[in-house]
Amino acid sequence: MTGITATTLADGRELIYFDDGATARPRTAATTTDHRPLPERGEPGQVRFDALTDEWVAVAAHRQARTHLPPADQCPICPTTPNNPSEIPAPDYDVVVFENRFPSLGPAVGHVPSTPAWGTTGPAYGRCEVVAFTPEHTGSFSGLSEARARTVVEAWAHRTEALSKLPGIRQVFPFENRGADIGVTLHHPHGQIYAYPYVTPRATAIGAAARKFYDGSDGRQTLTGSLLRAEREDGSRMVMEGENFSAYVPFAARWPLEIHLVPHRQVPDLAALSGEERDELAHVYLDLLKRLDALYPTPTPYISAWHQAPLDDLLRPASYLHLQLTSPRRAADKLKFLAGSEAAMGAFINDTTPESVAERLRAVVVPASAHSPAATSPAPLGALPEGAHA
Ligand SMILES: [Zn+2]
Repeated sequence: MTGITATTLADGRELIYFDDGATARPRTAATTTDHRPLPERGEPGQVRFDALTDEWVAVAAHRQARTHLPPADQCPICPTTPNNPSEIPAPDYDVVVFENRFPSLGPAVGHVPSTPAWGTTGPAYGRCEVVAFTPEHTGSFSGLSEARARTVVEAWAHRTEALSKLPGIRQVFPFENRGADIGVTLHHPHGQIYAYPYVTPRATAIGAAARKFYDGSDGRQTLTGSLLRAEREDGSRMVMEGENFSAYVPFAARWPLEIHLVPHRQVPDLAALSGEERDELAHVYLDLLKRLDALYPTPTPYISAWHQAPLDDLLRPASYLHLQLTSPRRAADKLKFLAGSEAAMGAFINDTTPESVAERLRAVVVPASAHSPAATSPAPLGALPEGAHA
């Protein structure tokens, strides 16, 4: 259970506090009013249709002015202090979600043209939100308590449900970029949620494969459910198995480190998870992040991406919520860069074997205490096995 309080910032953006525990903290006007003289919000950028690939591209040149790695005393997602009137007016919080001041999509919402062709443009409708995981400026998700992680799960579910109802929204995508190597522009532990006015290219590909499989079984089976069953039976790529969720390195992993976390029950999105499932998710997600961080002496950069069913009548029945947790790290001091084959052709070449990565992740002994930071994990394991080519 989570206490929820909604308010608005000085420029009208929505901000929502999610408090650990069943009831919201008492908040007064003094602690929720944003006193900054903010300029009015601008018009959305533009989406352009790429006829060559049948994909939309967002053109967000106005975002170049956004905050980039500010010093800690000017962090926009720390609680407000007299010297740092931040994005969060309160002197303290647990988890908070607010509309991004420099959104790639939005702030207006609406429909993109339904039959686009060469030269078609439209407003970059949609919504971009920031999810602050903790009032603490340093640390990371893996260091959160289980209670706090549970509050984040609740925030993701709440936002998925709310954003899915906005006009024109076709896909809601909660994610976290972790580490400067991934391109984060703020160190404070946080994630983001994008609500797109179109189904993204990767969701289109995954959705089409899922629908084809679903139709092939006359609607009796889902592709992700079937893959989960196969991985659990095989066992060689499993990382962990719980009551309601299991995680494995996928058979054809693309990244040096890649983990898929899948609920045992087919649900379209985080909002459809039961209370019991959300409780377990908080636990197993922390477990996975701690395993990732224990592999090397320094924190592992990652992209944590929630694949939720698109808001599309054809794709949704066959779609299956899951997390894809990926890292370009292929050795303690080496990252995989997306170069010719991957960036130009979308053809991935993985320098690790999924089975060996799963074995290393399984071997990590995760500290029992919910409050243990990842740094107290056992000694890092050695470099990836030989045979990996550069
Ligand atoms: Zn901060």
